[in-house]
Amino acid sequence: MTYPNTQLFIDNQWCDAAAGETLAVLNPATGQEIGRLAHARKPDLDRALAAAERGFATWRNTPAHERSAIMRRAAGLMRERAEAIAAVMTQEQGKPLVEAKIEALAAADIIEWFAEEGRRVYGRIVPPRNLAADQRVLKEPVGPVAAFTPWNFPINQVVRKVSAALATGCSILVKGPEETPASPAELIRAFSDAGLPAGVLGLVYGVPAEISEYLIPHPVIRKITFTGSTPVGKQLAAMAGLHMKRATMELGGHAPVIVCDDADLELAVKAIGAAKFRNAGQVCISPTRYLVHNKVKADFVDAFAALAKGLKVGNGMEKGIQMGPMANDRGLATMVRLTENAAAKGAKVVTGGERIGTTGNFFAPTVLTDVPLDADIFNQEPFGPIAAVRGFDDLADAIKEANRLPWGLSAYAFTRSLKNAHQLSHGVEVGMLWVNQPAAPSAELPFGGVKDSGYGSEGGPEALEAYLNTKTVSIICG
Ligand code: NAD
Repeated sequence: MTYPNTQLFIDNQWCDAAAGETLAVLNPATGQEIGRLAHARKPDLDRALAAAERGFATWRNTPAHERSAIMRRAAGLMRERAEAIAAVMTQEQGKPLVEAKIEALAAADIIEWFAEEGRRVYGRIVPPRNLAADQRVLKEPVGPVAAFTPWNFPINQVVRKVSAALATGCSILVKGPEETPASPAELIRAFSDAGLPAGVLGLVYGVPAEISEYLIPHPVIRKITFTGSTPVGKQLAAMAGLHMKRATMELGGHAPVIVCDDADLELAVKAIGAAKFRNAGQVCISPTRYLVHNKVKADFVDAFAALAKGLKVGNGMEKGIQMGPMANDRGLATMVRLTENAAAKGAKVVTGGERIGTTGNFFAPTVLTDVPLDADIFNQEPFGPIAAVRGFDDLADAIKEANRLPWGLSAYAFTRSLKNAHQLSHGVEVGMLWVNQPAAPSAELPFGGVKDSGYGSEGGPEALEAYLNTKTVSIICG
């Protein structure tokens, strides 16, 4: 299977870095180098920034209708190319081909939704106190955006930012994920092939901190958007604050799953079991802390362990594989550490709990039960295929535990009772609560967190608002 080298995309040109530096890209299923990646330094960033400034001048003056048409063409290209793009993504990231293809197709859906919504960015007319005045509220694109995206969903994390920026008339410079660079480059190619004018969209890779420290304070950049870990998000948000830049932060989570005693257990295990092991658990909204009513806990754990044991783990390029390797060896080391720590503190390893083989970053789908509250897995984001279960007797206590950690991205609950659902929807401190279902974060729904999970939204009309300035204009005709 071929895998392309990745270049930078600056001013509508694919190019090597000025200094010719490159980085290796590894396949997490084999540990082998599969390609090289151009590595940008300041001269490359300066070119990209100048292009983004020119691109913004062009794009903000392009009618929303035309912008929408170009975006829709890009969506069509993503659909046509989904199969080939999926093969590239699986080689660099590890997820099964079927998941990679869904991600490429979902990108088309997201682009189309934003393309439509961007045609409906309305201002308003406000009745004046002085009848001679004409009072308007205008919505204007914020300006060139710097986006920083991670490796877990190489396309999805980029497409939400790019689509919202383009739909509102902003230009956007993406610092993509160095470990999974070629599939997001294919997304950028789809936009370029669709006819996006020069400079509107750029793509660079390099040393993340070096790039963010240069781009965020730079006067050309007017907005920052970041997806990644909470510690890095806090650093970047602080820098954005210092330079008075708008910011959207989509950070980590530690999603609680509350299974009540009246839940449909079969549904709960099916829905939330599949969600746990999707993308080997490397998902910011991945269910992690399973709080299960003591009346049903034993049955839930048995069924969940059976599901985990039955998963086919292997190289995502092979047919029938349901879970691939961890995307990098840091993740694998974290899984080993978290399992050992939980077991040492008294948790039971019901299934999994160890690395599979010695080649590639494979870790067995793992279910831990009776996990003490002070185990690291109950306090640190695992970002991997480990489910940690604890019992509860009273729903109020489960909600209290759900809210104990500093994160507030996503939560899940299973219950047949409207009363419980009501209590959960008011009590759980998160940006997204999914009841009796896995997460279904479509483009039209707000996507974002509260507390240490960040701020701002990457879905729904709120996502567009984040790329718009509000201007009040009051005119009295002379
Ligand atoms: P990390 O904190 O080193 O990096 C996370 C992402 O931030 C990467 O894409 C990285 O390139 C980028 N990054 C790091 N430092 C940066 C900087 N100074 N400026 C700009 N970008 C920077 O963590 P990691 O080892 O790659 O991933 C581990 C943790 O990150 C996970 O446990 C999870 O909490 C979090 N994460 C969250 C998401 C998400 O979807 N919210 C995605 C990936 C990783």
